[in-house]
Amino acid sequence: MEQKGCTFATVKDFHLTVIKLESVDLAVIGGGAAGFFAAIRAAEINPSAKIHILEKSGKLLSKVKISGGGRCNVTHDCSHVSQLIQQYPRGGNALKKMFGAFKVEDTVEWFARRGVELKVEKDGRMFPLTDNSQTIIDCFLQEAKRLRIQVHLHFPVNKVKAEEGAFLLYSSKDNVLRAKKVLVATGGHPKEEAYNWLRETGHSLSSPIPSLFTFNSPANPLRKLPGISVPKGLVRIEGTKLQYEGPVLITHWGFSGPAVLKLSAFGARWVHEQDYTFVIHIRWVAVTSEEELRAQLKAYQQAHPKRLVQGHPLFELPQRLWAYACEQAEIYPEKVWAEVSRKSFNKLLECLFRDRQEIKGKTTFKEEFVTCGGIPLSELHLPQMESRLSPGLFFAGEVLDVDGITGGFNFQHAWTSGWLAGSHIGRSLAEI
Ligand SMILES: Cc1cc2nc3c(=O)[nH]c(=O)nc-3n(C[C@H](O)[C@H](O)[C@H](O)COP(=O)(O)OP(=O)(O)OC[C@H]3O[C@@H](n4cnc5c(N)ncnc54)[C@H](O)[C@@H]3O)c2cc1C
Repeated sequence: MEQKGCTFATVKDFHLTVIKLESVDLAVIGGGAAGFFAAIRAAEINPSAKIHILEKSGKLLSKVKISGGGRCNVTHDCSHVSQLIQQYPRGGNALKKMFGAFKVEDTVEWFARRGVELKVEKDGRMFPLTDNSQTIIDCFLQEAKRLRIQVHLHFPVNKVKAEEGAFLLYSSKDNVLRAKKVLVATGGHPKEEAYNWLRETGHSLSSPIPSLFTFNSPANPLRKLPGISVPKGLVRIEGTKLQYEGPVLITHWGFSGPAVLKLSAFGARWVHEQDYTFVIHIRWVAVTSEEELRAQLKAYQQAHPKRLVQGHPLFELPQRLWAYACEQAEIYPEKVWAEVSRKSFNKLLECLFRDRQEIKGKTTFKEEFVTCGGIPLSELHLPQMESRLSPGLFFAGEVLDVDGITGGFNFQHAWTSGWLAGSHIGRSLAEI
């Protein structure tokens, strides 16, 4: 379905331009989600401002394109800021100020005003009605065209130098741009070297590492059960307080699912320090305590002494997962409940309640991975997103030390930080 107001402009409408010391009001470095959102906001507030987006690659909004499996999970249906900020392992209370100024409802309204309706899925994720990320891209490109924002492709900025109340942006000897204000919206990168030119501006860097990945468990017998999942498992990392409840999925290489991804995000630094070698404990069944599980198993054993144990899965566990737990407890297929020894009973309980699994390595989640680390929020004036070290320099999006779990939270941060930076830049340009 085509949505009104969001067609026509394509990436071909924006050409590679060789710039020889041109002067602009705002240079946005990075043609991604945060860069476009900020540029559009600044242009709306200050329509006469000369705004240029500089993109290093030949593509615009390329992550938006592939996001959410090509559907773009734009945001998450979460109206309470206090709840929203809990979905960000990094960002903390500083995010309160930011989301207080531009929240999920504002995102929904922003797109609706431009003819892009969003729908909510059962789990709270929000997508365009079209289920097509191109709808979001078309919307941004159309807005950029309407507001006469200039876009330069193949313009990798590798140096920003403050000079006489403005900035010089270098790409190559010939490509130099002078800008009154600069917004850095270059996204995340798992390698420190990618941030070297930014560090030259005086900013520090919280070292970048991956977030949102699945756990590898080589030589694990469970890998023979790929695709099996439980809806309400609990995964805990041994030696830490990190634990999350939610769906757990067994894969060909180890463990995945929302509980694992959430754990990978909140534990990103810790597991990186362990070189991704650690132990997890999985609770496969939805019970509140070990005592409750013991009582339920005991009651069943007493009620059905002649029933085959392996043949009758309990707790709505998939048959093969239940059989795995029985095998771990040496309860083989021919055994009935009356024959289960105390030792086997305890082993079964242990496997269901805290199945110990060794993790060695990670696999980046193909749907949505982000960088943990970046420019610290403490070096910015919030909620304006302006550098405390270099006035006139702004930051938005994943280049900051902010990242969310899966579900639309990373884009919400890109929209919020972009909108805030764009608002402040637009207003301050009007004052010059
Ligand atoms: C496969 C995948 C799927 C995802 N799906 C979702 C999803 O559905 N929902 C969600 O919330 N999040 C999703 N994310 C995360 C989300 O895409 C990012 O958090 C978001 O795009 C960050 O926006 P950004 O503008 O900060 O950075 P980006 O979108 O990465 O844009 C940065 C831009 O800057 C350019 N650039 C970098 N350095 C320079 C330079 N020196 N000079 C000029 N240009 C430069 C880059 O080429 C890029 O175009 C997904 C991520 C991945 C990898």
